Amino acid sequence: MSKIYLGTNLKMFKGYQETLEYIKRVNEITQNISSDIQVFVIPSFLTISEAIEKTQQKNCWIGSQNMASIAEGAYTGEISPKQLKEIGVTINELGHSERRQFFGETDQELAKKVKASVDFKMRPLLCVGENALEKDSNASSATVLRQLQIGLAKLTVEELKNVMIAYEPVWAIGENGVPAEPTYVEEIHQVMRDCLMTLAGEIGQEIPLLYGGSVNLANYQELLSKKNVDGLFIGRTAWEIEKFKEIILFANKNYV
Ligand code: PEP
Repeated sequence: MSKIYLGTNLKMFKGYQETLEYIKRVNEITQNISSDIQVFVIPSFLTISEAIEKTQQKNCWIGSQNMASIAEGAYTGEISPKQLKEIGVTINELGHSERRQFFGETDQELAKKVKASVDFKMRPLLCVGENALEKDSNASSATVLRQLQIGLAKLTVEELKNVMIAYEPVWAIGENGVPAEPTYVEEIHQVMRDCLMTLAGEIGQEIPLLYGGSVNLANYQELLSKKNVDGLFIGRTAWEIEKFKEIILFANKNYV
């Protein structure tokens, strides 16, 4: 049985104290779960340092929502991999669709960030996913494959071991999102798995593939039951701590 990954990105929600209170609760919930369940929380940059101090990193990783690709330099407003590593960040979320859409992040730029994350011994969580137009044009697989192949292009086969992927179809995310059907998710995850195995052989089998996009209490069990779904990347549902707790405890009971 391989690990199950359950994570949440808090985006620009929750204030400073609220985030720390939330992380304290996640920490309590994860104290007694199996090491086969890996939980992670990705709060705003402001709280990362204190969140790490309050967290047992083994059970609950703390991550960043973005990262510069360069170790240091005259790049006002950016936060570097070197700085994030220094404070104990474990995982770097890269290429969330909001970063691509509102901040113009390209696959080429993301490839540099992915490489920097690995170079600084953190784990890149590369987000990929088609938008509604691409889906309606039957270009879902092509879009996701392009994002994967370019995003991972700077890594050696050995380095690919550190990567995690979140498949987040843009049409499934957020307030107006429609959750993807679990069978559809499995189809795309199989396409990604085949691509990763072409890139990395057997290592491709080990790269965690997470699904994100309107995961809720009605669909998480079926999503987790799919062969190529190694975890869930959850937004709104996980921000309600009791709901996140239910998902974590379910995985702990059924997948270890
Ligand atoms: C997201 O925005 O990445 C996300 C998965 O959000 P939600 O679960 O709220 O759709």
